Amino acid sequence: MKIFDGIYQLLTPFPQFTFAQAKDLRRQLQDAPRVTKGLPYVLPYMVKSGGDTMLIDCGWNTDDAYGALEEGMKEHGSHPTEIKDLFITHVHPDHYGMSGRLKRLCDCQVILHEEDAKVIVSRYLSPKSLTEDMGKFMQLNGVPALDSPQMSQGSMGMLDRVSPVPADRELKGGEILHVGEFYFEVIWTPGHSPGHICLYEPNYKVLFTGDHVLPTITPNVSIHTQTHGSPLGDYMRSLEKLEKLDVKYILPAHEFEITDLPKRLREIEVHHVERLEEMRKCVDSGGSTAWDVAGRVKWATGMLTDFEPFMQRAAVGETLAHLEYLWEQGQLAKIMRGRVVHWLPI
Ligand SMILES: [Zn+2]
Ligand SMILES: [Zn+2]
Repeated sequence: MKIFDGIYQLLTPFPQFTFAQAKDLRRQLQDAPRVTKGLPYVLPYMVKSGGDTMLIDCGWNTDDAYGALEEGMKEHGSHPTEIKDLFITHVHPDHYGMSGRLKRLCDCQVILHEEDAKVIVSRYLSPKSLTEDMGKFMQLNGVPALDSPQMSQGSMGMLDRVSPVPADRELKGGEILHVGEFYFEVIWTPGHSPGHICLYEPNYKVLFTGDHVLPTITPNVSIHTQTHGSPLGDYMRSLEKLEKLDVKYILPAHEFEITDLPKRLREIEVHHVERLEEMRKCVDSGGSTAWDVAGRVKWATGMLTDFEPFMQRAAVGETLAHLEYLWEQGQLAKIMRGRVVHWLPI
């Protein structure tokens, strides 16, 4: 789909959906947004100007997703072999998964933020120790020993759908990327991922938000073995970074275009403030683990006990991000009891 001359929205399906199903859902969701069981697609963007071609995000490394990318680019007179720069908003598999395949195909320059470039090896190239660390981390946060192995294995099944490649260029934020007539400013927006980046073109008032801001979904903001400090604190500060931008086209990596950015930023802030309050109330006077609290929270997709192990892990990570934020604000205490972290009201 053409956004305007030079900027094109493409679509690549998630592995459990066909291209046709994903395209269908793209139309349906815009008319009637709802929570789907698993995300159906990612929206890469092609920037083509003055003989340069940059792709923003790609998709999972499946033949279907590659076929969808090829077809989408062809509609606008282009082909994946023409990609010069591959800009990745963050290293999650739905955005980064196809990078290695594209690198081999066209020798494009793979561009990532340095904080996400750091985890490529431990996450995708030698992930064994990550699984062990994750198991220990889950038990530390109160997950019963029986559930823990399954939950730490949770995401390992996706590795065959990721073609990893090291970054050719690592960013810090603040750089300007020049593509033909466009000058994109790199905005570092940590939170959903430590190295998440948005791209902003002030002359054309275009903002690519990746997963940082989506029209109806709030992105997962989690603490896990590869995060530091307070991801939710980072995330809230990263929302503020976008508040003052003069924007006309707000292009996220899932769902559909955002029409009112300030309104959406406020909605997301309110969501987290409410979630923080809910979590604070879920902490018992005698102390609770993150696993206890996650089991009491009303998640948009149901209750914790009904989730797949991978989603349970995400829910524990998201709970921890909120508890840590409350602790930072002086609203909760945390203590070790035996080998398990407990949170206490103040
Ligand atoms: Zn993501
Ligand atoms: Zn995503």
